[in-house]
Amino acid sequence: MVLHVRVLMRLLEARHLIKEYVTGDNRVFALNDVSIGIDTGEFVAIMGQSGSGKSTFMNLIGCLDVPTSGEYYLNGEKVSDMQGDQLALIRNQQIGFVFQQFNLLPRTTALENVELPMLYAGIPAEERRVRASARLKEVGLGERMHHTPSELSGGQQQRVAIARGLVNNPSLILADEPTGALDSRTSIEIMALMQKLSREGMTIVIVTHNPEIAEFTNRIIVFRDGKVQSDLPNTPSDAEKELLNYPLPDAEVPS
Ligand code: ADP
Ligand code: MG
Repeated sequence: MVLHVRVLMRLLEARHLIKEYVTGDNRVFALNDVSIGIDTGEFVAIMGQSGSGKSTFMNLIGCLDVPTSGEYYLNGEKVSDMQGDQLALIRNQQIGFVFQQFNLLPRTTALENVELPMLYAGIPAEERRVRASARLKEVGLGERMHHTPSELSGGQQQRVAIARGLVNNPSLILADEPTGALDSRTSIEIMALMQKLSREGMTIVIVTHNPEIAEFTNRIIVFRDGKVQSDLPNTPSDAEKELLNYPLPDAEVPS
């Protein structure tokens, strides 16, 4: 018998984050005193109206930017005091990003797209190939590694992007609207994959406008005017089961 014991550990800790943008005479508090802690293995949805601060929060926890004031710790390291090169290093080592528009290189195979972050990390060719193909198999694309993005469906392209996000063994996956460009069935397939990764221990934070997508996560945080309006645990729907309600499309891959 295999026992899955999840040791709860604080992965990230944001304390009183403020992000202020000044353009001319205009001052905007994109984040206005946000304190959030996320433990290893949590699967979190960030929701809220356009302009409520979701992307600003993701940029800060993704080490793409630093706050105007407040503190941010990732794996016990104080990121909010770091400078450009240090930020880039911690970002490359610890964060896997997944975007709405997939952001894959067009005339490049799935395998090469997934190898790319390891190229930047200076990992030798042989190891790159082994790790990239293992990740592609894990997301169900073992048979399509040598296809280019235009030969893959939207859902398959997003799987490639998720494999690419995982390949440097990050401690955190951040996805801003990962299902925003996908139809309902494909969106749920992607959520089923994320639930699988989450059960295996990956920490995942997604932004979504869609309450049905947020239902697949374990915790839903709603932002409003740069503040946390609500932060509640959620009992996730089972995406694998939900898929039974959606007919399979006739053709999986565009012609
Ligand atoms: P969301 O992702 O929830 O739509 P954002 O985090 O993108 O919201 O934006 C929050 C607020 O901060 C908005 O009012 C937005 O106009 C403002 N904002 C975001 N980025 C910038 C920027 N680089 N310069 C000026 N204002 C910004
Ligand atoms: Mg946004």
